[in-house]
Amino acid sequence: MNTNADPNASLNPQMVFCRACGRQVHVSATSCPGCGARQIAAGESARLLLPAFLLCLVFGYLGAHRYYAGKIGTGILMLLTAGGLGIWVLIDLIMLLSGTFTDIEGRRLTRWL
Ligand SMILES: [Zn+2]
Repeated sequence: MNTNADPNASLNPQMVFCRACGRQVHVSATSCPGCGARQIAAGESARLLLPAFLLCLVFGYLGAHRYYAGKIGTGILMLLTAGGLGIWVLIDLIMLLSGTFTDIEGRRLTRWL
């Protein structure tokens, strides 16, 4: 027995921590068996659609929703082009509504709340 083992090494790699209560939950679980909180699936962003959508709707021409998604570079580009003269904003709104808009890590924004 190696008593100097990293305590994290004993953790099952198939387990993740619940974002709400901190309890260990299997990676494939869609909700926490302890508190019932919905778990984020791989490829799914922790960022929410509702604030992104509202930011895009109101301040889309400033690229606000892109800053929210961590996409600072294209956010600035959007600001400089006034949201691609509105066309880019419209495309982003459609992408947000269709659930294909991604954050800086390439994960789709799928949850409204
Ligand atoms: Zn939980």
